Amino acid sequence: MTSRLLCGFQTILLLLLIPFASSAVEPAQWAESHVDGLIPLYKHLHTNPELSLQEVETSKLMAKELEAAGIRVTTNVGGYGVVGVLENGPGKRLLIRTDMDALPIVEETGLPYASTVQAKGPEGVVGVMHACGHDVHMTNFIGVARYLAENRDRWTGTILFVAQPAEEGVKGAKAMLDDGLYERFGKPDFALALHVSPKDLAGTVVYRPGFSAAASDGADIVVRGAGGHGARPHETKDPIVQAAQLILALQTIVSRDLDPLESAVITVGAISGGTRANVIPETCHLKVTIRSYSEDVRKQLHAAVEQRARGIAAAMGAPAPEVTIWRGCDPVYNDPELVQRVLPAFRRSLGEENVREVPPTMTSEDFGMFARGGVPTFMFRLGTATEERLKADDGSCSLHTPQYRPEVRPALVTGITAMSSAALELLSKD
Ligand code: ZN
Ligand code: ZN
Repeated sequence: MTSRLLCGFQTILLLLLIPFASSAVEPAQWAESHVDGLIPLYKHLHTNPELSLQEVETSKLMAKELEAAGIRVTTNVGGYGVVGVLENGPGKRLLIRTDMDALPIVEETGLPYASTVQAKGPEGVVGVMHACGHDVHMTNFIGVARYLAENRDRWTGTILFVAQPAEEGVKGAKAMLDDGLYERFGKPDFALALHVSPKDLAGTVVYRPGFSAAASDGADIVVRGAGGHGARPHETKDPIVQAAQLILALQTIVSRDLDPLESAVITVGAISGGTRANVIPETCHLKVTIRSYSEDVRKQLHAAVEQRARGIAAAMGAPAPEVTIWRGCDPVYNDPELVQRVLPAFRRSLGEENVREVPPTMTSEDFGMFARGGVPTFMFRLGTATEERLKADDGSCSLHTPQYRPEVRPALVTGITAMSSAALELLSKD
């Protein structure tokens, strides 16, 4: 009798608790039970990649998925950019960003859902592959949107879901901002993003407070000379020799001009000039990438590149070169205060051992542009590797390779959990 009574009492208690239990779904629990419903979206995105500035179908799909989650959507912001606004009472405004574009790479993963897409890019007709994990980012983004839309009782404020085009050319974030992203949809109080980290294990996230990825700028230098016969160099001003000297001179900017405690890279990634061994050409073209963190160093590098190019030309008695220096994207600066606020939420939801600080890198990501107007930003990185693939060292744990293969399911569970937990923390009701 007593046990039957207790059973009845327990049932009533359970029934009373059910509404509260269902309204308090933790991100980790939600991610684990909903990830299988997201895998088809991932596979579709992976199979159908689009190049930068060509994200026609991808952006339509992002808009459709956000709308299906009950989020108000505006399309064609800064090109193919998509903005979803989820308003949920008074409070802070949080921006969550994904990128959408893929790379001109022929996929060689052998996966059943591998891409066979070909498209016309600036390089001609090329194979297209999500080799930078932006398909993981988009699926994660939709998972987070679904969780936060379904669990509005757990937060208050406004979320801007931003799907940006053309990250790989570091153009998309700037295009969206220049199209009035903050004026039209409100300047956010914080902006968050994640990027896959191919050599960290799926199930973990890694982060770096402060500078985490570099500013990416470039220089196009057309070295000019006077052409002629390869056997009569004294009648010419050889631009090939001038270019060779310039390449070496550029290497001394970081090693000799900069404070050794500052970080910077100058790489001449492309050189083209001349057609035949016995013809001295008129010009030689150099393409240079310039990476840095601080604005002062950035300006110093730009000035020094121009100075070296002009100086070497003058020293060789050649005409002045054409030097075009362009600013690509700002560095990713992870606001230390924002990082410290979000970290406990990561640790609580993922476990202390799955959250790790890592060194910064000199690679670049245009998410740094969202810091415009002083918005605190934080981009963390999501592990996608397995122990076996790391041991195999077969390219599957490197970005921008034909073999890149993320361990999707655990990465998504971790990414959705981390991003949703961060959002709950920043838009907390208390
Ligand atoms: Zn990339
Ligand atoms: Zn990327």
